Amino acid sequence: MSIHEIPLSKPDITSMEIDAVTSVLRSGRLSIGPVQEQFEHALAARVNRDFGIACSSGTAGLHMALLALGVGPGDEVITTPFSFIASANVILYVGAKPVFVDICPKTLNMDPQKLADAITPRTKAIIAVETFGNPAHMDAYEQVAAKYELPIIEDCCEALGSAVGSRPCGSFGRVGVFGFYPNKQITTGEGGMIVTNDKRIADMCRSLRSQGRPLPTTPSGTASPTAVGIGGAGVTTAGSAHAGLGSWLVHERLGYNYRLSELHAALGLAQTKRLDHILAKRQRVSDMYFQRLLGNSDVVLPTTLPDTTQSWFVFVLRLATTYTRDERDRIIAGMRRHEVGAADYFPCIHLQPFYRERFGFKSGDFPIAESVSQRTIAVPFYNDLTEREVDFVVQTLELMLTRENIKRS
Ligand SMILES: *Cc1c(COP(=O)(O)O)cnc(C)c1O
Repeated sequence: MSIHEIPLSKPDITSMEIDAVTSVLRSGRLSIGPVQEQFEHALAARVNRDFGIACSSGTAGLHMALLALGVGPGDEVITTPFSFIASANVILYVGAKPVFVDICPKTLNMDPQKLADAITPRTKAIIAVETFGNPAHMDAYEQVAAKYELPIIEDCCEALGSAVGSRPCGSFGRVGVFGFYPNKQITTGEGGMIVTNDKRIADMCRSLRSQGRPLPTTPSGTASPTAVGIGGAGVTTAGSAHAGLGSWLVHERLGYNYRLSELHAALGLAQTKRLDHILAKRQRVSDMYFQRLLGNSDVVLPTTLPDTTQSWFVFVLRLATTYTRDERDRIIAGMRRHEVGAADYFPCIHLQPFYRERFGFKSGDFPIAESVSQRTIAVPFYNDLTEREVDFVVQTLELMLTRENIKRS
């Protein structure tokens, strides 16, 4: 990466984050400790949820959410084909079948009517993704889900800080899952968080996260999640000292190691404390793009519905329908040659090689998602993007558009 490059994304790490991680290192307690709990409380409170369960990635969180809802082989789970692949892969992890429904061309989220039409007696859950942070239709999904008594898993991995009216993303559905990869609104390096008001789901996810250790309420499990934590710290110093470890070596179900370390949690807690500031910075960058691109008829800008707070995950614009996929790909390649980050967020999941192979999906199955997907361009988007950099990005994009138009004529 040259010093001139404007990357697609960049984390925003201050001395506050560095101090927080350093102090965990000095504390000697590197996993299952108090910082994880603080992070869980802070983030859950932020999105009006009773429980937060930190985990090693957003993908791990979605996997555990499906398991906690009892989704398994023979079940169908409805989701969008226009998303990051993790939101569908987790359905395969539990042996269930992904059922895709096409998207709304404006909001890029699942079309609520098509969602309703896709429900069968085998449908066990809905994974509703807030694509690029847009919470459109979540209330409509809730109505459909209520009618058929289906749980919604809100994949809010891209939507921390978004809201519909006064309802924050993370508060829709039975369970919500956030992700903290470095390009998200806040990062832990790698990490995720499940949020829910359902204590049984919270307990189950805590057990799954930590090798299937007993739930706090089961008779064999005298340990609360906190006590399990203490046992965990103890086991590192006294592997042979079973006495006093309580349920630490009892495994009631097939679990995983999906824990988040204290180092990661410290980073996440510091970022959560700065969240309002971070969101304001991202809004500022989005405003700059809107200002410069509004009125450019070659470009379709993101749509935010009224009464919605949009937290910007990435800034994805679309080329007008007159542009082909090849033209879009050349524009992206051209921007990259000029050291401007650009990407084709997202290729449709159903057209990924192994989905085609395994399920026989083909082009034309979800025409709106496909049409949108071949014309999207994600442009550089991060908190400290300057006005000059935005100008350079837009000029480079416009240069590439002009080239394609000249080639055509
Ligand atoms: C980022 C993301 C995830 C989870 O990502 P991880 O890298 O596993 O944290 C899941 N779904 C969507 C829609 C995402 O954007």
